[in-house]
Amino acid sequence: MLTMGLDIGSTACKCIILEDGKNILGRAVVSSGAGTVGAQKVYDEALAMHSLKREDLGRLMVTGYGRFSFETADNQKSELSCHAKGIAFLMPTVRTIIDIGGQDAKALRLNAKGMLDSFVMNDKCAAGTGKFLEVMAGRLNVQTEELGDWDAKATEEASISSTCTVFAESEVISKLSMNVNLANLVAGIHRSVAKRVAVLAYRNGIVKDVAMSGGVALNKGVVRALGEELKTEILVHADCQLAGALGAALFAWEELCKQA
Ligand code: ADP
Repeated sequence: MLTMGLDIGSTACKCIILEDGKNILGRAVVSSGAGTVGAQKVYDEALAMHSLKREDLGRLMVTGYGRFSFETADNQKSELSCHAKGIAFLMPTVRTIIDIGGQDAKALRLNAKGMLDSFVMNDKCAAGTGKFLEVMAGRLNVQTEELGDWDAKATEEASISSTCTVFAESEVISKLSMNVNLANLVAGIHRSVAKRVAVLAYRNGIVKDVAMSGGVALNKGVVRALGEELKTEILVHADCQLAGALGAALFAWEELCKQA
């Protein structure tokens, strides 16, 4: 029996097709956030990949910022619960999750059963989110996906003192004009994100194991800097960006089992 989890984020839409509540059959990511276009696209792509139709899905659960706008879904669930569920499935030893998405950052604590215990979030300010990194990458004329590789080439970190995105952007422009090394600048930008997110994480308390989820977890430079700030190893699963969609598919499976 198949279930689908659809995570309609602010920046990207993610989809997981799950078989019998345990095997990931399909995954799709579309870089287009809330609104029906990205959601419909990722949903269509995931179904087409396995020549499936809506009737083949036992249940469809939707989560994320845009979860109230997808009418094909059977039910919806908060992204906090879904991220917790997805990461607990992928990495059962994890007790702390740092989820950095396109426009917000969250720190979540899980209990020993993998259920959400507490969380804190920043959804008021772009600093410490994927948006900040996208703005900086644009200024540096590199792809957001390349930031991790640039970070690995840094010999030292160029310090970015402003926490505000707008002021930090001016600082980056000024450093570029002074010919500061690009890799060192990228490493400094990652440090700035890590410092910001570490405040959030410490406020919620750090219990090992610690993992990152969300699209920004794919940036090895942010993972490095955050690990240094939190003085702990940070686990990252290859499906980190799809954790919310996976959690939704798992909740869909649980609801299906209850109905049977
Ligand atoms: P949301 O759920 O808020 O839409 P996601 O968790 O999907 O956000 O993360 C989107 C963010 O992840 C974007 O800011 C994007 O730039 C970043 N991102 C996605 N893929 C990569 C990658 N390969 N390397 C670095 N950053 C990435």
